[in-house]
Amino acid sequence: MRTDVSPNVLDELREIAGDSHVLTADEDLLTYGFDGTWYDQRPLAVVLPANTAEVSAIHKLATRERLAITPRALGSGLSGGAVPLSGSLILSIVRMNAILEIDETNHVAVVQPGVINADLQSAVEARGLFYPPDPSSYKQSAIGGNVAENAGGARCLKYGVTSNYVQALEIVLPDGAVFRTGGKMVKNVTGYDLRALFTGSEGTLGTITEITLRLIPKPKFSRTAMATFAKIDDAARTVTAVMAAGLIPTSIELLDNLTMQCLEEFSPAGLPLEADAILLFAVDGDHEAALDAESAEIERIARANGAGEIRVAHSQADSDRLWAARRVIAPALARKRPHRLGEDISIPRSAIPEMIARVRTIAARNNVIIPVFGHAGDGNLHPNILCDRRDAEEMKRVREAAREIFETAVDLGGTLSGEHGIGLLKKQFMEMDVGPEALRVMRAIKNALDPLGIMNPGKIFPDPGGVDAFTLPGVTS
Ligand SMILES: Cc1cc2nc3c(=O)[nH]c(=O)nc-3n(C[C@H](O)[C@H](O)[C@H](O)COP(=O)(O)OP(=O)(O)OC[C@H]3O[C@@H](n4cnc5c(N)ncnc54)[C@H](O)[C@@H]3O)c2cc1C
Repeated sequence: MRTDVSPNVLDELREIAGDSHVLTADEDLLTYGFDGTWYDQRPLAVVLPANTAEVSAIHKLATRERLAITPRALGSGLSGGAVPLSGSLILSIVRMNAILEIDETNHVAVVQPGVINADLQSAVEARGLFYPPDPSSYKQSAIGGNVAENAGGARCLKYGVTSNYVQALEIVLPDGAVFRTGGKMVKNVTGYDLRALFTGSEGTLGTITEITLRLIPKPKFSRTAMATFAKIDDAARTVTAVMAAGLIPTSIELLDNLTMQCLEEFSPAGLPLEADAILLFAVDGDHEAALDAESAEIERIARANGAGEIRVAHSQADSDRLWAARRVIAPALARKRPHRLGEDISIPRSAIPEMIARVRTIAARNNVIIPVFGHAGDGNLHPNILCDRRDAEEMKRVREAAREIFETAVDLGGTLSGEHGIGLLKKQFMEMDVGPEALRVMRAIKNALDPLGIMNPGKIFPDPGGVDAFTLPGVTS
């Protein structure tokens, strides 16, 4: 793979995308070199194509020149996926941001990959339809990035993750060939499920240039409540008890005391700082009486499992305030320490109490601060290790704590990532999680589709001793 880009190739990129859509100034390379993690690198150049034909031409040029491409949407990723490793071009799809169609008969939306999740939600809701996947970054992440990471969110407990809504994709393969898979039809089992393969492929198999998403009717009513717990164990047990009772709330989110402290310091929302943890519950549906019954049953179970105060949101404004607090956890944590390693482990719900207990032990043993929050209803927790990456000694402890959390998740029958993907952050742990045979299959797929290895190199696949989240230039370890 080349590690430089010649003036002639830059001229060819300008011919493809237009002069003003090829960026090489230092400040531009800086801007496009990082994501939602602490990693940043400089791409060789940034190219912003306007359509599929331009993406294809860029891929062809990169193949001819043996140049690496890192596709990028809005750069909010939390596993380093959009961070270009040395010698990569950034292919930014932000100009491809049109909602092409909302088909109310077939309940689908056809979009370009740069459409912001929140914009799609507003557009479909204006027509009485609903696109459920709602990453907390819904205002700062694009559908292309959501599909490439198979993003989740609070509502995914009831409604499923992004892959449950991807009906069709248009893909530009590494060599520039364009193909479509899927369509507006509901059922489709013709051949291998290529939509599933590309959903969550983290930019390593090709660039996604168009997406057809399944929509559902928008639920008419919703309710939100917050339950406080003197012991986080009781909160964790409540989650499993609610689900075991056969209820399927829209969301069950957990916030521990450290997370609440950070939130209150950042933007006071009246969270109960005397509690060890809170659970936020949401239910939705078309029948108010059914929602009242469901809410009452959740309250009963929470109280039976040790809940103290239960606050029910009596207005949309009350409910919005609680969910707004949940969505600003990232900036709130940033005030505590300059960096954070955000984990995304996913475990069987029954293992939540044990996982939380072990995270607390890991934090104490390694002398690091680890607030825990997450989509507890589906067992997807985000222990965040707060740190300062400039402190070499601290980073050793952070690395050890991260390793122990990954190992614990796998030990408890879980996995490294529930929604943020592997990227750079978790690639060295892949074999421990999926095993050598599954990894061999994944490598075979990668090699078959991208024999030159130009698509987002250095991501997902373990390369012991290679560049990863801790050994990236600029990261102290
Ligand atoms: C505050 C905050 C809250 C978050 N909350 C959640 C959450 O609740 N749930 C959740 O799942 N995630 C969450 N995330 C993580 C992140 O927002 C998601 O992973 C999101 O899907 C990334 O979208 P993006 O547009 O920013 O993609 P980027 O970060 O730009 O890219 C992500 C990956 O997708 C690849 N990619 C991007 N576009 C394409 C394309 N067109 N074709 C092929 N590959 C492509 C990139 O190469 C990269 O590997 C959060 C992040 C932040 C900062």
